[in-house]
Amino acid sequence: MKALISIHDVMPGTMTEVAELLKICRSSGVQQVTLLVVPGLDWQSEQIDQLRQWQKSGCELAAHGWVHRCVTNKSLWHRVHSLILSRDVAEHLSLEPDDVIELMHKSGNWFVENGFDQPSLYVPPAWALGKVSKRAMRSCGYSQVETLSGVVFPKSGQTKRLPLVGFEADTFTREHALRVFNGVALKMPTTKPLRVSIHPYDHKLRLGKNLRTVLQRCTEALSYSEIPR
Ligand SMILES: [Zn+2]
Repeated sequence: MKALISIHDVMPGTMTEVAELLKICRSSGVQQVTLLVVPGLDWQSEQIDQLRQWQKSGCELAAHGWVHRCVTNKSLWHRVHSLILSRDVAEHLSLEPDDVIELMHKSGNWFVENGFDQPSLYVPPAWALGKVSKRAMRSCGYSQVETLSGVVFPKSGQTKRLPLVGFEADTFTREHALRVFNGVALKMPTTKPLRVSIHPYDHKLRLGKNLRTVLQRCTEALSYSEIPR
């Protein structure tokens, strides 16, 4: 099975868990992993060095919001989204379009300022892009932007819908909702790559075993830049 494997919420406070998850990926034979880094936090130089090491070992770095929490007042839609899906992390949802673009720029620039290349992938926290057009996104320098339904290619304006599985099951309700959601994605008759999205504590939560099983089924892990168009 072809897959796009990403570890979300790579932050100064989750480096230990990310290392554990990378070990699990590698022991399942998965080398190509995309790390979604949250730049606007208190990064220490040795943690940035660790990111560099991971990159050298075959990981790709992508930008994932700025601080990964909401700092403005929430709109009604945002409150509903928080309740059912994103809790309090959908950083874009209460921002105006210009502020979303500014945040996306700032996020990418952090990588360049710290000696990395500009990332080609941007993933908004909780996949919630907010009020921003594909046209406006073109100026941000990303080749791919991931949303809940798939991946947008801002330059061409094309959107590729791709199946997604997740494992962030810290409650009974979430576990069962995810089992149904993942079951649909895994049974879909398609040759498209499956997006396997991993959060830092997933291996210790209720679907940890399930995560390992899915990783073992991923025989070909792709980079987001290799998505067949
Ligand atoms: Zn996230």
